[in-house]
This record gives sequence, C-alpha cells and structure tokens, in this order.
Amino acid sequence: MRNYLLTTIVTAVAAIAGQADGFRPHVTFNDQPEMVSESAETRIQSSREHLAAVAKNDTLVLERFDQFAQNLETFYREERALSWDQFTTILNALDFAAEKHQFQTRKNKAETPYISHPIGVANHLMSIGEVKDPDLIIAALLHDTVGDTQTSFDEITKRFGKEVAGYVKEVTDDKNLSKKQRKRLQVINASHQSNGAAQIKLADKLYNLIDLLNNSPEGWTRDRVDHYFEWAESVVNRLPASNPELKQAIDQVINQYWESQDKSAVY
Ligand code: ZN
Repeated sequence: MRNYLLTTIVTAVAAIAGQADGFRPHVTFNDQPEMVSESAETRIQSSREHLAAVAKNDTLVLERFDQFAQNLETFYREERALSWDQFTTILNALDFAAEKHQFQTRKNKAETPYISHPIGVANHLMSIGEVKDPDLIIAALLHDTVGDTQTSFDEITKRFGKEVAGYVKEVTDDKNLSKKQRKRLQVINASHQSNGAAQIKLADKLYNLIDLLNNSPEGWTRDRVDHYFEWAESVVNRLPASNPELKQAIDQVINQYWESQDKSAVY
C-alpha cells in the first residue's frame, strides 16, 4: 500500500513537472493521446459491427474492412496525416456506402456483397497509391453510389462536401447512354479527368482487373474478358499521370493476364 501510494505521488509529481516543461509523460491517467486512440478503436469497431450486420458477416467483406481499418489507423495514429474529424468522416462515408449498396452483389459465382468493391478500391488507393487525402478516400468509398444506387450528388454534397461530390461526378457514367456509348466515353474523357478522379479510376480499374484475373463473372467468355482488358488499358493509358505506383500495378496485372493467355493459347 505504501509503495503504491509512493508510486502514485511520484507519477503525479512527474506529470505536473512534465507538463510544465511542455513534455507529456507516456503513462498517466490523463494522457490525451491515449484517450483519443482508445476512441479510435471504438469508432472502428462500431463501423465493423454495422458492416457485419449489413453484409451478413461475409468473410471477404470483413477481411477488406480490417485491411482498410489498419491503413486508416496508421494514417491517423502513427503518421498523424488525418485529424479526428477527417478520420471519423471517412468511417461515416463507409457506413453510408454500406447501407446504399446493401442489397447489391458482385457478378461472381459467390455473389459477394457489393460493398467489398468500394472498400477494396479505397484500400488500393491507400496502400498501393499511398493516398492520404481524406476527400479522395471518401470519394473512392462512394464512387459507385450515384451510378448504382438511389443516391444523388446533392446528398453527397450535403454530407461530404463539394470536393467529394465533384470527384464522384467525374467517375460516374451517364446511365441514360447505352453501355457501348458509356465505355467509349470513358476512353475519350480519360484525358480530361482531374488528378484526384484519375487516381480513383486507376484504383477502380486495378480492382476490377484483379477480380477478372482471379474470379471471372459467371458466363463471361474468354473474348469478353480479352475485350475488357483491352478497353481498360486504353482508358488508363489516357488518364493524366497522377499516381505511378497504381499505374505500375495495373500494367503488371495486364501483363500477367496476356502472359497467362499466351501459355494457354492453341496454335
Ligand atoms: Zn467501381
């Protein structure tokens, strides 16, 4: 008991002395950074629980989320690249996207919940592209909401600001046009994209190409996959040079695809 009291007094005195110097002792009961990092974990946990409920505990979705949360925590806690507000807004955007895409699945055999895709796109942006800009991370999470769900640009502007809505607009196709026209316009418009939108496009194409390489949608013929690779290549090659790491990753996947076709080709 005496020892305990003594330690407490010594710690308290050290804390006061430390504060006077502008120095923060690492383990005190009122250490601010420790308190904030605890809430960061709680905030992440609440998004994980929400996502698990929306995506019916899908293993792939939760795996993607855990990678995402790890990137986000590193940016926030270790690199101090994000403020608390930015950190929580990014998680709010993830919750929003999860709800919007709730009833959609990917076209693969396992019918993976669609939200696995926007989270994966944000992951590529953060880990391969080393993008830390919160507006870009949020726009990556929301990039398919207007095109594929009942979401308006107005709603995005109100919740996440003009910058984010602008990026989402740049990467959203006009659904009034035919699929063929939309794909053609993506090639034509690629060179006019802003640097931010170009990076989201790169991460999006990277995700879809890796998915096609490992896990083609049901019923896709080799011809159709070939055409997708050719089309994606013509889009990414016309985008402004905005992120060499992402571009290099795409080039690798494209090469890998054609090499695998070369080996299986019948002469
Ligand atoms: Zn997408």
